[in-house]
Amino acid sequence: MSASSRIPVIAQPFVSDRAKKTLDLIEEFVEKECIPAEGVFSAQLGEGEKRWKTNPPVVESLKEKAKKLGLWNLFLAKAHYSQGAGFTNLEYGLMAEILGKSKLGPEATNTAAPDTGNMEVLAKYGNDAQQREWLTPLLEGKIRSAFLMTEPDIASSDATNIALSIRREGNEYVLNGSKWWASGAGDPRCSIYIVMGKTDPTNSDPYKQQSVVLVPAGLPGITVHRMMHVYGYDDAPHGHGHISFKNVRVPVANIVLGEGRGFEIIQGRLGPGRIHHCMRSIGAAEKALEWLIARINDENKKTFGQPLASHGVILEWIAKSRIEVDAARLVVLNAAIKIDQGDARAALREIAEAKVLVPQTVLTIIDRAVQAYGAAGVCQDTPLAYLWAGIRTLRIADGPDEVHLQQLGRRENKSRKDAVAAKLKFQIEETDRLLTAAGFKAKAHL
Ligand SMILES: Cc1cc2nc3c(=O)[nH]c(=O)nc-3n(C[C@H](O)[C@H](O)[C@H](O)COP(=O)(O)OP(=O)(O)OC[C@H]3O[C@@H](n4cnc5c(N)ncnc54)[C@H](O)[C@@H]3O)c2cc1C
Repeated sequence: MSASSRIPVIAQPFVSDRAKKTLDLIEEFVEKECIPAEGVFSAQLGEGEKRWKTNPPVVESLKEKAKKLGLWNLFLAKAHYSQGAGFTNLEYGLMAEILGKSKLGPEATNTAAPDTGNMEVLAKYGNDAQQREWLTPLLEGKIRSAFLMTEPDIASSDATNIALSIRREGNEYVLNGSKWWASGAGDPRCSIYIVMGKTDPTNSDPYKQQSVVLVPAGLPGITVHRMMHVYGYDDAPHGHGHISFKNVRVPVANIVLGEGRGFEIIQGRLGPGRIHHCMRSIGAAEKALEWLIARINDENKKTFGQPLASHGVILEWIAKSRIEVDAARLVVLNAAIKIDQGDARAALREIAEAKVLVPQTVLTIIDRAVQAYGAAGVCQDTPLAYLWAGIRTLRIADGPDEVHLQQLGRRENKSRKDAVAAKLKFQIEETDRLLTAAGFKAKAHL
């Protein structure tokens, strides 16, 4: 069954014929080219320090193929950007699911994080000069980028804490402070950091203290101390950098939008990006389910004389996984449609629902597959351990679950509490009135 014929019924009316064709092309590309190339990627990357200086040639050849197939910059939604391939968030969401099945798929099609979010920032908020210098080469896949917000010395899930100092001196900004978890900063092609910090730390409005500046990688005063590991994986050559800034100077022209506009920019950046992560995660869940099915039918690996598939509990894992992944997909696609019909701000609730639900659901599905493989499931011989580690971080990255749940809960409560109380009051009083009218004793409710 092709990818286009698996589009959920609810989403079908919103998907163009061109998007359906592209979806099928992407599936062919990912399953037949990207996934088999993953072993070549690891071999070309090699071992030790060299891994941080290498751009495995197989990635560049996949990029060339993807460009020829028209599978390039699919993510910039047509309602909000002119530079993309002309798809909606929903259409790209369906494509991102398939791309999420291969660790090479996103970069091969120039739809890898954090470049996607960074390109969105530059396309939406950058001026002409900034777009010429940084957006154009990013759109062409010639350079890579990193987004530097999180800091080691503060709790970064509350972005008002971000402390890196951006002080104006004449025609320059001077940056001092530390950042970590700068994904992509390890890549030798990473040429631009998008850095959030404080230009006005004493402003009485904590949401006006922050600004975003563009900092070319490698300027004097920048030190890349180390790459952070994710459950032991270093994600070379991409990496997650721990970087410090000591009197780093950039021209004032490198500010994005203007001083005090940092919050506006990070909020604009994260909306569609969260949906992209969620859809790639749905692809990871489908991949785990495939590996689960393969293991439980392996004739060479029977337990107590039977393949695992003959045990009811294992079939229940398959059934539950199918239900959960299908349900989670609908939540993400719903958010994508809502963004398409307005913008990310109008879809805050739907995006948060997906951001919290999807990684938790996908982790459960991957974990079942790991369990079915026994010890093989936790090692390097299947993609499952790496998938699990990657998806686990999504419960923290772009804001931890608890923060999204708090905001969701607060919004739901605030928007509904008065109407709910009024409705219940009416229903109780109306019951009493009907009881009295019918000759019964009113309950004078609770
Ligand atoms: C793989 C990976 C890649 C990343 N890439 C980037 C990147 O490219 N750029 C970047 O800037 N950052 C990146 N990050 C960092 C990420 O965005 C932060 O880790 C995240 O925002 C949380 O901030 P923190 O780690 O400082 O946690 P803290 O703010 O210290 O929070 C710790 C914990 O406190 C709890 N908590 C927080 N608030 C509440 C609340 N209101 N109620 C209840 N509990 C709460 C949560 O459980 C949370 O996990 C990445 C992280 C990972 C793991």
